[in-house]
Amino acid sequence: MEAKNFIEEIINRDLESGKISQVKTRFPPEPNGYLHIGHAKALCVNFGLKEKYGGTCNLRYDDTNPVKEDEEYVNAIEEDIKWLGFKWDEKLFASDYFDKMFECAVLLIKKGLAYVCDLTAEQIRETRGTLTSPGTESPYRNRSVEENLDLFMRMKAGEFADGEKVLRAKIDMASSNVNMRDPVIYRVVHATHHNTKDKWCVYPMYDFAHPIEDAVEGITHSVCTLEFEDHRPLYDWVVENCGFEKKPQQIEFARLNITNTIMSKRFLKRLVDEKTVDGWDDPRMPTLCGMRRRGYPPEAIRDFCERIGVAKANSEVESSYLDACVRDFLNKTADRVMAVFNPVRVVLTNYDGEEFFEVENNPNAEQISSRRVSFSNELFIDGSDFEVNPPPKYHRLKPDGYVRLKGAYIIRCDRVEYNSDGTVNTVFASVVLNSKSGKDESGLKVKGVIQWVNARDCVPVKTFRFKSLLLPAKDGVTDFTERLNRDSKTEINGFGERRLEDAKRPDRFQFMRIGYFAADGKDGEAVVFNEIVGLKDSFNAKS
Ligand code: ATP
Ligand code: MG
Repeated sequence: MEAKNFIEEIINRDLESGKISQVKTRFPPEPNGYLHIGHAKALCVNFGLKEKYGGTCNLRYDDTNPVKEDEEYVNAIEEDIKWLGFKWDEKLFASDYFDKMFECAVLLIKKGLAYVCDLTAEQIRETRGTLTSPGTESPYRNRSVEENLDLFMRMKAGEFADGEKVLRAKIDMASSNVNMRDPVIYRVVHATHHNTKDKWCVYPMYDFAHPIEDAVEGITHSVCTLEFEDHRPLYDWVVENCGFEKKPQQIEFARLNITNTIMSKRFLKRLVDEKTVDGWDDPRMPTLCGMRRRGYPPEAIRDFCERIGVAKANSEVESSYLDACVRDFLNKTADRVMAVFNPVRVVLTNYDGEEFFEVENNPNAEQISSRRVSFSNELFIDGSDFEVNPPPKYHRLKPDGYVRLKGAYIIRCDRVEYNSDGTVNTVFASVVLNSKSGKDESGLKVKGVIQWVNARDCVPVKTFRFKSLLLPAKDGVTDFTERLNRDSKTEINGFGERRLEDAKRPDRFQFMRIGYFAADGKDGEAVVFNEIVGLKDSFNAKS
């Protein structure tokens, strides 16, 4: 199998050498928030390996911290993974291994490789040394095995308060790797855990728990992000000294960063808690539920992750690149419809009755289909397609000017009726009757083509258009809240073809000449749409 990246090269070697016979990966989210586009990257890598090599991928909740985790997130995470189209093999909780982890800790104590330490968190930090100087050994480092076992059992029995005692691995306070300087592996936390409730008051640290989880499950390649590179020696130390025969291999890759996009769950949670956004699924959020609501197709997100590939060095991807992937997919899949914003009423004075045009849904679709669009003497056009005092080279409708109505006729603006406040009430126009699209015998050369809707046969639409939640980074500005774009959501109303009447999530359309929109429920009579992405890159550059 040809390797697409360095992870697959490692796997190919391991398969060829016989080190492994089947690839086993896992996706280990911490249930302390909703998944975001960065997690999609990790999902694509781990589930991508399962799919490519016919292996397995477990969903494992990293719920070793009782304080921050919640059931709400567990359900949301599963919905998001399914939405992306991935299927996990086993669903597991790190907390299911608490017994095994405790057993491993006891084993380390018995081997003289772990000790109970009474230093405070601050003292531990202070004695850890620096990148250039070694740490100093804890005065509790040489407690006897018996004393350590006794104290650890009493930690478990709840005799000590939070932070009063910890269990540390006994490795090397002079190691050049700070992570190896007697790291804490167990701590006392008196808190109810969402899964194990009040069974435990000692909890394993991530660096101790993760390798054990991987080893118990027989994970072959434990793929994680670069910040864990320096933790790998500790990962290997735990696997080795806890006596696991099958040794999982940790491989690090660069986390996904996107311009003007903050993915840290802490920050996203703040946006939600402070009501800067309307919830985790606000269409401006980089969460998967936000993107779903915005109308991003899961296929486009997977395509994006595939195209940016897997790298060993951190970098930042332009957010417009994700937009481009979304646009590419929608161009092939989203039906075109006509909708108009800030509508202007147009009455055709020389036209009676009603007719229907057969209109193609999407010229780029794999399967060509069409629909009927009705036409009458009363229409709406987009507010931006009519100007009383047009600038030079304005090719849309203007007094005494001509324009083509897409798929229908050429019309001429004869007269404008105004409201008392000077705004346009109605445009009276005449139809060039022999100019029907496809059978135009008028001989008129008309440059502008605009969309329209039949005022007698349309539905009100309420739409939201979005800009990035964050403004570009500025020198010296470190607090994200100072970069918040207060103008990131705009409501704009109009009318759309009758066809939109039944639109519902996750229906997606191209509103011709405007952008791609996704249905998002109803508001009274109006069908609500979120703009997914503009038609061209230039739209985003302009806005
Ligand atoms: P955050 O910092 O956003 O809270 P996290 O790393 O704490 O993210 P976890 O729930 O622990 O979130 O992550 C689950 C998996 O997703 C981990 O393997 C993690 O490395 C990976 N992951 C998280 N963010 C990214 C990202 N931006 N790019 C790639 N992988 C990521
Ligand atoms: Mg984490």
